Amino acid sequence: MTIFRCRYPDVKIRDDVTYHDYVMENLDEYGDDILLVDGITGRSYTARQLKALVRRVGSALTRRGFKRRDVFCVFAPNLPEFAIIQLAVISIGGILTTANPLYTPGELSRQLADSTAKYIITIPMFADTVNKAAENYGKLQAKYVFGEADGFKPFTELMQDDGSAFPTNLKFNPKEDIALLPYSSGTTGVPKGVMLTHYSLVANYTQIDHAPFRNTSSVRRSTVLILPLFHLYGIMVIAGSIRNGTKVVTLPRFEQEQYLRAVEKYRASSLNLVPPLVLFLAKSPLVSNYDLSCVEELGSGAAPLGKELTDELIKRLGGNKTLRQGYGLTETSPVVTTSPRDKFKYGSAGMIIPNTEIKFVDISNGRELGVNEDGELWCRGPQNMKGYWNRPDSTAATLDKNGWLHTGDIGHIDEDGCVFIVDRLKELIKYKGFQVPPAELEALLIAFEGVADVAVIGVPDLEAGELPRAYIVKKPGAQLSEETVKKFIARECAPHKRLRGGVRFVSEIPKSPSGKILRRLLRDQLKQEMKAK
Ligand code: AMP
Repeated sequence: MTIFRCRYPDVKIRDDVTYHDYVMENLDEYGDDILLVDGITGRSYTARQLKALVRRVGSALTRRGFKRRDVFCVFAPNLPEFAIIQLAVISIGGILTTANPLYTPGELSRQLADSTAKYIITIPMFADTVNKAAENYGKLQAKYVFGEADGFKPFTELMQDDGSAFPTNLKFNPKEDIALLPYSSGTTGVPKGVMLTHYSLVANYTQIDHAPFRNTSSVRRSTVLILPLFHLYGIMVIAGSIRNGTKVVTLPRFEQEQYLRAVEKYRASSLNLVPPLVLFLAKSPLVSNYDLSCVEELGSGAAPLGKELTDELIKRLGGNKTLRQGYGLTETSPVVTTSPRDKFKYGSAGMIIPNTEIKFVDISNGRELGVNEDGELWCRGPQNMKGYWNRPDSTAATLDKNGWLHTGDIGHIDEDGCVFIVDRLKELIKYKGFQVPPAELEALLIAFEGVADVAVIGVPDLEAGELPRAYIVKKPGAQLSEETVKKFIARECAPHKRLRGGVRFVSEIPKSPSGKILRRLLRDQLKQEMKAK
C-alpha cells in the first residue's frame, strides 16, 4: 500500500460548527472595518453591516416562505452582495447553488431543473435569460434581483427587513447538511451538483489554515477578487477573507487596466489567480504602468501552471514575492495540495495538506504506485464531497466504498513530497480554468442537423490551457461547414465553451466495443498533428 500523507501533523477539525458560523465567527472583532467593496462603484460593507444584513436577508426570505433545504440559485457576476445572500441562505438552512452568469437560457434551465432550485437572484442585465430559463423549468417560486427588473423582487427589500423572523432554533448536522451545491462534470458526463456539507467546507478551511500553509498576507489585509464567485475557488477566497478580516474588492469581469488599477488602489496584499492571469501579469506591457509592490503573495489554481511562467512573474514583480500553487476539485471543497509557505518547488501543485491521504494508481492494472511514478490521483479526506446531488451512480463511480475520490487527474509525488499534475485522464476540458464538459457539447451536436456522430476534446493552448475541438461525422449528403457548427455552439452555450479549437470532419469516431468514445486515441492523433507542425 503506497499511501502518501501530509508531512506536517494533522489538525483538529471542528465537527460542531456550521459553515456560516465559522465564516462569520470573527465579525464582532472586525466591527467597522470594511470587508466587502465593489471595485466598480466603491459600494462597501463593514463587518458589522455584513453580520446584520445576513440576519435581515435570512429573516426576509423566511417570511417569504423559504424552507430548510430549499435550493437557492445565484446567477450573477461578482459583487459584494454575493457574500450576503450566500451566508443568509445557508444560515437559514438553505442550499446555495451557483451558476455561471454567462450561461444561456438552456444551460441555466438545465441547472435549475437538476438542482430543483426554488429561488434565483440575478442582475438586471441577465433578467431576460432568467425569464427564458424559468419558463422552460417552470418551478421557480420567486425571482430576486440586485437592482430593479420587471417581475423580479429587489434585493434591497430583503435588506430592509427588521430581522425578527430569522430562525433561531435550527439544529444543524454539519456532517450531513449540505451548504453549497456548485456544479462540476467530474470525470465524465454532464455537469452535476456537488454536495458540499458544512463540515467538508469547514474542514478544508481548517486544513489550509494550518500554520505551515497559512497565507499570512490574507489576514486583515486586502485582496482584489476576479475569480468568479460561481466557482468554488472564488467562493473559498471570499469566505476565507471574511473569516480573516481581509477586505475583498470584487470585480465583475476581467478588464486588464481596471484590474491593475484596483490592485494598486486597494493595495492588494494577496492575489488569487488562474494560469491565464499569471500569464497576463508576467507578460503584458500594461503591468509596468502600475505599482504592484503591495502584492506579497500570489496563489494559482484550477489548471496547471509551469515553472518557467511562475519564475517569470516572480522576477517581474521584484523577486521578493511568492506564488503558491494549489490543486483540487470542486468535489474536494476544493483543496487537496498546496505549497507550504517555506517550501516551494515552482511547477509543482504543492504538498498534501493535513488530514488528507493520496495515492497514485496505475489505471491499467490497479497497482498503487511509488514516488515519481505517474498514475491516477486518488484522495481521501474530510474535504471529500458527500456525493453528487440525486445521482447515486455517478457518486459511486467517483467515490469508492473505501472513501477514495478518483480525481481523473494523472500525476505523481516526488521524493520531497511535492505533487505534480501532468495530464488528465477524465474527459473534462478546461478553458482558462472554466469547465467545458465534452459530453454536454456532444449532446447538443448529435442533435444538430447533419451530424451523424461526434466527439469533443481539448487542444492544448499556451494561453487558455485547452481549446474545445469537435470531431464530426456528417450524415451522408449533409451540407455542414465548420462555421455553421461553431455558430450553433456559440448560440447554445456560454462563451468559454465555444469551439475555439476548430471543427474537424472525419469518417468515423474511434470507439470501444461498448460504444465509448476513445478520446485517448483522438488526443494521441492530435499530439502527432501538433508535432508535425
Ligand atoms: P474544478 O472542479 O472546476 O475546480 O476542476 C478541477 C480540475 O481542475 C482538476 O481535476 C484538475 O484537472 C484541474 N486542476 C485544478 N488545479 C490544478 C492544478 N494546480 N494543476 C493542474 N490541474 C489542476
